[in-house]
Amino acid sequence: MQILTQAQHVQAQCQQWRAEGHSIALVPTMGFYHAGHEDLMRHGRTLADKLVVSLFVNPTQFGPNEDLSTYPRDLAKDTALVENVGADMLFTPSPEDMYAPDHATWVSVPDLSQGLCGVTRPEHFRGVCTVVMKLLMLTQATTALFGEKDWQQLAIVRRMVRDCAIPVDIVGRPTVREADGLALSSRNAYLSPAERAEAPHIQAGLQWAAGKVEKGETNAPALMKGLLHYWSSRLTLGRLDYLAVVDPVSLKPVDSIEKTALMACAIRMGKARLIDNIRLHAKH
Ligand code: AMP
Repeated sequence: MQILTQAQHVQAQCQQWRAEGHSIALVPTMGFYHAGHEDLMRHGRTLADKLVVSLFVNPTQFGPNEDLSTYPRDLAKDTALVENVGADMLFTPSPEDMYAPDHATWVSVPDLSQGLCGVTRPEHFRGVCTVVMKLLMLTQATTALFGEKDWQQLAIVRRMVRDCAIPVDIVGRPTVREADGLALSSRNAYLSPAERAEAPHIQAGLQWAAGKVEKGETNAPALMKGLLHYWSSRLTLGRLDYLAVVDPVSLKPVDSIEKTALMACAIRMGKARLIDNIRLHAKH
């Protein structure tokens, strides 16, 4: 496996691979790997001739008071996993290599970036889009894989790729969870034992809501009210950032659940901000 830190070296190698007729799968990550990342990598391995994993804690997607400086890191362990998965390249650039001092170009999808996580993280998706676009340009990936845990990110990347006619297939993968339902996240490392014990109620509550919809509930505000009540006695250490029922593609809020919708939430617990979501399927 090649371990490269410089963008121009990545571009040269990937250009050569593409010229030789190889397909390339890209898995963009911020490291501190868990089984969710591993699933993306192992699946990516099956989809293309070459697998490129990028590990970059992208400063432009963090807000001024967010956890950029404390974001968990373990490069040695992460490198071993990427190697074990059988990747062809691990790209670990420095911020200076990805962003010139006079970097001035931003990619954004404002329509999809303002709601949900965008309310409290107004610049976040601009940072995500800009770095993903750059990684796609550097690697000339034919496939790129993202997790459905970050549903808004996936929807935004899909829209960016469609709008800009970027020749890449975007593949979304289901959320990988702990046995008790908690969505795996590098930020789970921030949870205290008491917070960790309560955190599975996030997904349990979303499943409770999805069950109501399967039994015939179609009113989104009533469903959210019921879920907040469900959480009130179980998530005593959590503070709600948002809870929303939206169209899965446009991310616009829906009042009435017809066919399918997405219920998404962000909850702060201690130092962590945990996000999760569930698909809602209306009873026919
Ligand atoms: P991150 O390193 O947190 O930026 O995540 C890198 C990629 O892994 C993103 O596409 C995430 O959506 C995805 N990912 C993170 N957590 C999970 C999970 N629990 N299950 C599946 N994919 C995930």
